[in-house]
Amino acid sequence: MSQPNEVQQISCDGCGEPTPAHDVVNYGSVEDGYRRLCGRCFNTDVAERAGLEGFEHVQFEPIVMGDASGRPHEFHFRTHLFVSGVALDAFELREGHPAGYQFQVIGKPEEDLLGLLGRLIEKMRRSLAIRHVEDSRLGLQVTDGLVVRGKVECDLQNDDRLPLVVIDGREVSWAEFGRMVMTFEGWQFKLQFHDMSEEP
Ligand SMILES: [Zn+2]
Repeated sequence: MSQPNEVQQISCDGCGEPTPAHDVVNYGSVEDGYRRLCGRCFNTDVAERAGLEGFEHVQFEPIVMGDASGRPHEFHFRTHLFVSGVALDAFELREGHPAGYQFQVIGKPEEDLLGLLGRLIEKMRRSLAIRHVEDSRLGLQVTDGLVVRGKVECDLQNDDRLPLVVIDGREVSWAEFGRMVMTFEGWQFKLQFHDMSEEP
């Protein structure tokens, strides 16, 4: 039976297991060639090379969380180990690709992944509780908090290399964002950028 949000599966070059495309890492080098590894095989390989004994990969199942307006969001998780840390990502999927709300926390390689998941979920809760934009008769508007937090992405539909911003898990075009900002003509603003693992 085909699922409405069916994710493309790629078989892992390590364990042979079918793996969702968003969890596959192209791992290797130009000289030695690349292998397509699932998160578990990738992390196990990195742990072995880095001599990190005791690292245990955990695949977290998707969870559903509601936003400030009660809309449900399904989050998928991905864990990537690197030599100096471990990154845990949560993201929504659109046509099998990470999109919408996206979150990340970074921990020490020896950190317990369940503890890291706890930190990530707290961060998601804090963010989902805030509504930055709302629909109005004049289109999308900034809410009374007068603060907008979002993620900068690239607008692939546009040839001019313009940003696409993701606010409250929604994709907002640069032109639409501009119209939103025009509400504040004559006001000042502050624009600050933060790494994905930071709290904006
Ligand atoms: Zn594998």
